[in-house]
Amino acid sequence: MATISSISVTCAACGTASEQRRATGIDTVGFPDLDLRPPEMRRSTMHTWLQECPSCGFVAPDISKSDDIERAAMHGPEWNALLAGRGGADALSNRFERRAFLERAGAKDGLAAFRMLCAAWDADDRKDVAGAKAYRAKAVPLFEAALDGPPSPQLAVDWTMQLVDVLRRLRRWDEADTLNDRLFDEDRMTIRAVAAFNARMIQEGDDARFGMGIALEEAGA
Ligand SMILES: [Zn+2]
Repeated sequence: MATISSISVTCAACGTASEQRRATGIDTVGFPDLDLRPPEMRRSTMHTWLQECPSCGFVAPDISKSDDIERAAMHGPEWNALLAGRGGADALSNRFERRAFLERAGAKDGLAAFRMLCAAWDADDRKDVAGAKAYRAKAVPLFEAALDGPPSPQLAVDWTMQLVDVLRRLRRWDEADTLNDRLFDEDRMTIRAVAAFNARMIQEGDDARFGMGIALEEAGA
């Protein structure tokens, strides 16, 4: 069973101490979504995935650590605009977007893309359709940059699956279909089953969220 506890952490960017939540004892049961969003219970712990300094707005998995690039990026109009958006109904999405901004500053495109996708997941949970669409649109160039890396074979598969799903959810059918073709080259049957399912959904113009279980079920996997 998941337990949410609190720990005191000192921000490496500004020196302010704050209470941060963390989740322990998480079991996950079932399949992730097609964009690899994890199943429960991890799915419901997104508010613990990143810590956020209440003073300066620094965001990281562990705010007691920061590097020069991150601290240098926490200035300027783009950062200030993101910072001005904290505290609203979309606070969790905004937290993920701020982390994406800092990771992009450090040329960590794959991580930045993932954080932006997390922002979209939170928007999905809040039924904020326009917000989810905007975050997914912002994730596209980050995933593309990450895939240009080039990444390790495993990351390449993960990011390709995530980007295909992002493009399909954005109804960018041609781009989704072209990218999805790469997944058919994979040795693993589960990946090819997802590719076949994606191809059918793209052809049918279906932009809904799906779990990976249904794709495997259809393939008899
Ligand atoms: Zn701080």
